[in-house]
Amino acid sequence: MYKIACLPGDGIGVEIIPQAVKAIEAISKKYGYEFHFTEAYVGGAALDAVGVPLPEETLKLCKESDAVLLGAIGGPKWDNLPVHLRPEGASLLPLRKELGLYANLRPVVLYDALLDASTLKKEVIAGCDIMVIRELTGGLYFGEKKREKTERGQIAVDTLVYSTEEIERIARLGFETARKRNKKLCSVDKANVLESSRLWRETVTDLAKEYPDVELKHMYVDNCAMQLVRWPKQFDVIVTENTFGDILTDQASMISGSLGMLASASIGGKVALYEPSHGSAPDIAGQKKANPLAAILSAAMMLRYSFNLEIEAQEIEQAVVRVLDKGYRTPDIMQKGCTLVNTEEMGDKVADEILRAR
Ligand code: NAD
Repeated sequence: MYKIACLPGDGIGVEIIPQAVKAIEAISKKYGYEFHFTEAYVGGAALDAVGVPLPEETLKLCKESDAVLLGAIGGPKWDNLPVHLRPEGASLLPLRKELGLYANLRPVVLYDALLDASTLKKEVIAGCDIMVIRELTGGLYFGEKKREKTERGQIAVDTLVYSTEEIERIARLGFETARKRNKKLCSVDKANVLESSRLWRETVTDLAKEYPDVELKHMYVDNCAMQLVRWPKQFDVIVTENTFGDILTDQASMISGSLGMLASASIGGKVALYEPSHGSAPDIAGQKKANPLAAILSAAMMLRYSFNLEIEAQEIEQAVVRVLDKGYRTPDIMQKGCTLVNTEEMGDKVADEILRAR
């Protein structure tokens, strides 16, 4: 039996997570595995329910589970709270830190059926398959922050810290991942300006000696942002620090058609966490418009990485491909001649495909 902590969170999180659960339950029905889901509050929902964004019980549940499935966190309702209560900073970041999840894997894959859904030209994105590895527990988001009053207003300080150990750990995962794919690793930094990036580049270069079979390239983050839309097929595996990875993956999501297609796995500790790369999308929350495929594909990553169920993970991924091939679309990826479905209907279609496939 696999124990899964289920944290829908806020906004569209509560709409998409049940669709991911349906996909896992379809696998359970088909193969006889037992998945036991326990739901808990996190983020704004936890603040509203119990007054803190990351309740002790939620953390305990996550630590005692085999994997965590998370929806999204945050929303305008909680945007103006003091820093220690704001959902993202006070729940998602500490949760990642507490679970030791230093690496975030974000596959950017373009499904053939969605060639026309992207705003980018077909010939630029056709066949795109990139794995972005983002460092998740260091850098700007975790460094010391402060505000000070000055005569004319205030100054605000965020600190960007990286140690050799942190860089080496994530870079090693980059090399190992590249080794299992097309053996090309692009390390992204801003070494022309930032000291932390200079250490990043030196450390990655040193480590490369252990991986002579992997072709290593360094790229400045501004150039990488441009190259991702100019010729994304040049990339196989990208490894980068926390802030750059956050921004570049949102940008890269457009290669796959929508942010609603981008799954993610956060790994490194005993218990891994799976969540779509997008946020709580307050602009469409409660309207049944959210694309649940990123959450469903995150569930597939859970089967692959946490439970070693590769065939079953592929079953989910192939079910997604078939549903898209049959022309079902949520509004974010809607194309002419396709059938518009809502969040729940998309979840049902994928679950049906899993059960129907032999
Ligand atoms: P967002 O990712 O929530 O939304 C950006 C845009 O993409 C919106 O137009 C939204 O409608 C669309 N979108 C996102 N997911 C979609 C989906 N599954 N289907 C269809 N369209 C989708 O980013 P934002 O608007 O900058 O942030 C909203 C809130 O989410 C903020 O409170 C932010 O702090 C939080 N956030 C949370 C996470 C997380 O939980 N991991 C990540 C990013 C942002």
